[in-house]
Amino acid sequence: MSKYWTDLVHQLDPYTPGEQPQDQQYIKLNTNENPYPPAPSVLRAIDDFDKTRLRLYPDPESTELRAALANRHGVNPANVFLGNGSDEVLAHSFQAFFKQDKPLLFPEISYSFYPVYCGLYQIDFKALPLADDFSIDIDAFKMDHGGIIFPNPNAPTGLLMPLQQVEAVCRHSDSVVIVDEAYIDFGGESAVALTQRYDNLLVIQTFSKSRSLAGIRLGYAIGHSDLIDALNRVKNSFNSYPIDALAQTAALASIADDEAFRSGCAKIIHTRDALTRQLSALDFRVLPSSANFVFAEHATRAAEEIYLALKKKGVLVRFFKQPRIDNFLRITVGDDAEISQLITRLKTIL
Ligand code: PMP
Repeated sequence: MSKYWTDLVHQLDPYTPGEQPQDQQYIKLNTNENPYPPAPSVLRAIDDFDKTRLRLYPDPESTELRAALANRHGVNPANVFLGNGSDEVLAHSFQAFFKQDKPLLFPEISYSFYPVYCGLYQIDFKALPLADDFSIDIDAFKMDHGGIIFPNPNAPTGLLMPLQQVEAVCRHSDSVVIVDEAYIDFGGESAVALTQRYDNLLVIQTFSKSRSLAGIRLGYAIGHSDLIDALNRVKNSFNSYPIDALAQTAALASIADDEAFRSGCAKIIHTRDALTRQLSALDFRVLPSSANFVFAEHATRAAEEIYLALKKKGVLVRFFKQPRIDNFLRITVGDDAEISQLITRLKTIL
């Protein structure tokens, strides 16, 4: 606290990311990072990067990378916007589209950064309760609104909304609808194709999870060129060079190696299904996940107690002290060795 702070800074309630401990070797299953290193072809591209180029500013438009992403998704480069992590793409989107007379709508249980951006940009919002089965109730989006955003699959539940429902939300809304597809590559069907038919739909994806590149900070949005123009107006009023040269190189190599991308996702899906079975055998109820994490509740033991006991034993998972989900643990799908250690330690604890 300081007398120099503005009123807005006093009022902010910043996002708290999952712990990134620097002191001890933990098995980190708390921030939905990918347990595998980036593809060998990506590491080679980084090795081969001409470091003398770091003298120069990167291409502010990331032209080559936008073209590669457009090609991959079957859209035009004018439909693609890049940001420093999808968090930055989200932030610019909130500022570009959601400060309206009517409230922004999102599910009460979803990415906890959404209300934080609303605080930063002074956007009025309504957080809508999930249905009894933890799915997103799309009928609730029929109330008066100035925008809609939800993750698909949802986080931290991992539940996927079928594409027909995503389409129904776009059809019934006369505002911008953002589908945050951070986890879509782990078994969901992307809404990107719908952006050709719905000029109010913006789909956001990231290189952090399925491409194992959380460290380079790269996310992107796909939508009608009018939406992308709005995002560029915000970006170019904020930071002209959000994507550094090394990130552009690594991302291009990642897109070029589709085989590594697909097999990487398949490995996670395989381990997720094994983890689900093993947790169920230990009396956990595991929600059906389409993401690289599972959301699980034990039949008799409190989630907070299990979370703390696991932490003591060197395993970090995520616990949210929040109504409705405070008896759940969100566990990132690690590699097979990490999951087997998790299960061994859980058996001791339980
Ligand atoms: N959306 C959701 C739903 C997420 O869980 C995350 C990761 N915390 C992000 C967006 C942001 O990811 P990144 O900024 O690494 O692209």
